[in-house]
Amino acid sequence: MPVSKSDRCVLCLKPFNESVKEDKKTVEHIFPKAWYPENTPINLEKWRVPSCQKCNNDYSRIEQDLLVCLGLGLFNSDENAPGIIQKARRSVDPNCAKNERDRQKRLMLKKRIAGNLSSTDQIPQKAMIPNFGPPPNIKGTQPVLLIKADHIKLFTEKIVRGLTFLLDGYLIEPDYSIDYHLLNDKDSEPHLNKICKLGETYHKGPGIVVRRAVASNDKIGSFYHIEVWGRLKIFAIVTKVKALRDNKE
Ligand SMILES: [Zn+2]
Repeated sequence: MPVSKSDRCVLCLKPFNESVKEDKKTVEHIFPKAWYPENTPINLEKWRVPSCQKCNNDYSRIEQDLLVCLGLGLFNSDENAPGIIQKARRSVDPNCAKNERDRQKRLMLKKRIAGNLSSTDQIPQKAMIPNFGPPPNIKGTQPVLLIKADHIKLFTEKIVRGLTFLLDGYLIEPDYSIDYHLLNDKDSEPHLNKICKLGETYHKGPGIVVRRAVASNDKIGSFYHIEVWGRLKIFAIVTKVKALRDNKE
């Protein structure tokens, strides 16, 4: 299926400009290709949107870091994520390199990720991403990888911007804000039930599920629930900033 047309980057909203390297038009996967687990049907059509070269490059790095940090926090028994842990391990293993350049790339990523290493005695339980903390039956100090909050924020924004464009053809302009929350399953249940009741669910294989409800009086204002590998669960809320301000006045 061809990628829907836009004369601006769906992610940063900058107009494409073929004579400036960073502003060239590219095609970006909403969920990175590497994030689809092994049990994803081969013929599954992956979501893609037009994005500028800069966003494409920036997200490639962010998503690579997230794949390693989150992927290493999965279990082999996670049935919605087969192959993801192995992929995360391989991407920091220089022995898996195809050539010298690839080897250097893996070593650099490994160094970068090692810089995020901490341990459970250093990190309060409430700072753990829900569903990613060490299992309660494991005693003693465990290693943890720190994830930049900004990376989760940017990743969420990308999914929301990409899908709002893909499903409805709208770009999310600066008069809207995109906020996100990571909740545990118990706290998210009432919100999730509401989205399921009022909105739609989109499955992209067993590894990726997005639920979305759009406000009836505003085509862009919406509530998203993004679920990856059955473990990473993000709520995102798109609201009109101006409307909020008007209400306060
Ligand atoms: Zn861009």
